[in-house]
Amino acid sequence: MAWNFGRTDRKAARVREAGDGPAIDGDQAREFCRAVEGVGGLGLWASDAEGRIRYLSEGALARLPDGVTGSAVGSLVADVFQTFDDGAGSGRSLRFALSRRSRFEKVPVCTGDGQHRRWWLLSGEAQVDEGGRFGGFCGLCSEITDERRIAEENSREAMHDPLTGLLNRREMARMLDRTLRAYRAQERPCATLLIDLDRFKQVNDTLGHSTGDALLQQVSERLITIVGEAERICRLGGDEFQILVPDVEDRGDLGNLAERIIAMLSQPYSVEGNRCIIGASVGIAIAPFDGQDVDKLVRNADLALYAAKHGGRGGFRFFSRELLTAAEDRRMLEENLHDALAHGELELHYQPIVAAGTDVVSGAEALMRWNHPKKGVISPAQFIPIAEESTMICQIGEWALRTACRDAVQWPGALRVAVNVSPRQFTDPGFPAIVANALATSGLPPERLELEITEGVFLAEGADTDARFRALKALGVRLALDDFGTGYSSLGYLRTAPFDKIKIDQSFVRGTAEAGARNKALIAAIVAMAKAIGMETTAEGIETLDQLAMLRELGVSHIQGYIYSQAIPAEAFLAAAGQPGWGIPPSGPAFQREDRISMFRWIGAIHEDHYYPAVLRNLSATGALIDGLEDVPLGTRFVLYFGEGQLEVATVRRMIGEQLGVAFEKTLVSDGNGGLCTRTRISPYDLINAGLPPDFEVSTIRTPIAPRDGRISIPAFTSTVGRKAIQGTA
Ligand code: C2E
Ligand code: MG
Ligand code: MG
Repeated sequence: MAWNFGRTDRKAARVREAGDGPAIDGDQAREFCRAVEGVGGLGLWASDAEGRIRYLSEGALARLPDGVTGSAVGSLVADVFQTFDDGAGSGRSLRFALSRRSRFEKVPVCTGDGQHRRWWLLSGEAQVDEGGRFGGFCGLCSEITDERRIAEENSREAMHDPLTGLLNRREMARMLDRTLRAYRAQERPCATLLIDLDRFKQVNDTLGHSTGDALLQQVSERLITIVGEAERICRLGGDEFQILVPDVEDRGDLGNLAERIIAMLSQPYSVEGNRCIIGASVGIAIAPFDGQDVDKLVRNADLALYAAKHGGRGGFRFFSRELLTAAEDRRMLEENLHDALAHGELELHYQPIVAAGTDVVSGAEALMRWNHPKKGVISPAQFIPIAEESTMICQIGEWALRTACRDAVQWPGALRVAVNVSPRQFTDPGFPAIVANALATSGLPPERLELEITEGVFLAEGADTDARFRALKALGVRLALDDFGTGYSSLGYLRTAPFDKIKIDQSFVRGTAEAGARNKALIAAIVAMAKAIGMETTAEGIETLDQLAMLRELGVSHIQGYIYSQAIPAEAFLAAAGQPGWGIPPSGPAFQREDRISMFRWIGAIHEDHYYPAVLRNLSATGALIDGLEDVPLGTRFVLYFGEGQLEVATVRRMIGEQLGVAFEKTLVSDGNGGLCTRTRISPYDLINAGLPPDFEVSTIRTPIAPRDGRISIPAFTSTVGRKAIQGTA
């Protein structure tokens, strides 16, 4: 059979008859082939009727994998050239094209594996003889390996963050969307974690952007080490990252993962000769419970992250519906805070600080209170972080400083006043002048004013901080390092900064009275070091007599805590202070009880097909005390429903008066916020399958119904929830 190009003999004959261009004979054709082969990476190929290669240009043969070159002629076309998905979704199969025995064009194919893989476009025209018999194909192959590599590189760049090589925001959103869509159909869970670095900005601002960039690269390497798979981690931008965790809904496991991430990212970094320490906060949302599409899931993870960042640094939080209300409240507080100062709603209370050995009061810490016209007294732990997000903290802080100085000057003897200073106030260049002015206008001697500063200010290392310290010391005021033991607690700061006092945080003191507690040894070391360099030590948040005894034994010089007094209004403090030498006898519980959380919260008990409203009085990881259930025999097993899909199987173990003591089948886990939550939740899919709305909350129908024997019948809900929970523990 003679070669023809792109036309069957019959068509060619017709063309000839029409006088449309000259015909060429076999020799001319062969010559023509030789001339064009290799031009622009083009090759020629031909196959027989069985689909075996009869001819392949030398150039193309040479580019086949080593083992294939010699045997290509005689092999099936579809064995030598394999179909691949070109990403355009065409997925056209070469086998299919060949089987149709008609012209095909530019079918993407590849040869070889791994590094030796090459990509080609294959076109072919079916050869049919005069009798209409199919005799095979002949056609063109062109190699597109270089173009493809460039395109791949471009798409890699388009999908990845150039600095860290992690996925970028757009690609993560796409991947999450794909995953959630696919998982929805299969009712599979999928979690996402949002991570925000704490104090990264200070590193960037003080050590420069190139150090900041290098630090982000190290952060991403650590994340890859923890997660294992780089393609599930994204840098959202700045110092925010996102991780996708498919098929995990267990909040115990996710909490552990978050804790590992926080611990690992909080280890010191060595970057371009600088030592940096940063922290991390994590927000977690889990599909389908916290949202079933990308927007909702990510928004909820973001709310959880916000809560984590403001619940004290270096923590994680799960999304819960109360965070939605909290976000609403926060917006309102932020608006109201602008006027709080002008309307005289802020007030300072004073908490005595007592010499450990003698119970004599040496001074007090000024703690702010906000008397909100509608919400009542609001804790500074709630509104100071809001103020710190704007410049409001500087105004409010200055007011606190001036007010504290004015109040303290009336106190008898040499009682000192301690005032909290936010990092933002401290870094303001005008701050020493404000302090000087507050002292001058009030007439308070500088040695009676103590400024409490947190470790946060040290991240802004460099001349500025040092200069600020020098300026303040030159005024003669005292400086205290607050909340020691909550951050990274570097002893290095204590050596270089001119502190007069270290305040050991309550979280550090908790549990020291238990045998074998490591913190005890650490406190002993801190106290020894502080003594050696002439610093005082205050243990904060002391509530029990055993803690007090322990801290006295460890040689802590001062104690602050409810064991002596809570913070009290200015007038009450002045009245109590009376004469110099004011002492307070310690009083409080003998020892700290197991970490039980006392509360009054409506929950539900599900037994068989009934729902019984009950009140949760006391909760620990392994059990609870419940009120409001009558005549329940010991050993009864039922399901407790805590709301928001949380359920746990419980067994009645004790009866204490009206209250039931129950033991959980599975332990509750930390919610990252000092509270507890169940590991798993009832899936919205189960509720939908039971004919209920996906966010059905049985507690919302508690009040309107006054059931006679205390039970409410909601068969769809109770049987779904009950069965699911009991099965889960089987
Ligand atoms: P802080 O400076 O560490 O203050 C000690 C906190 O521990 C106070 O909480 C105090 O009421 C509480 N506390 C003291 N003894 C005990 C105890 O025995 N048990 C328990 N559970 N808690 C105890 P408060 O007043 O809610 O203040 C929280 C934080 O708000 C303060 O922590 C401080 O960081 C900030 N803050 C308060 N007032 C100001 C202020 O005027 N300016 C600034 N920048 N921050 C302030
Ligand atoms: Mg303080
Ligand atoms: Mg503190």
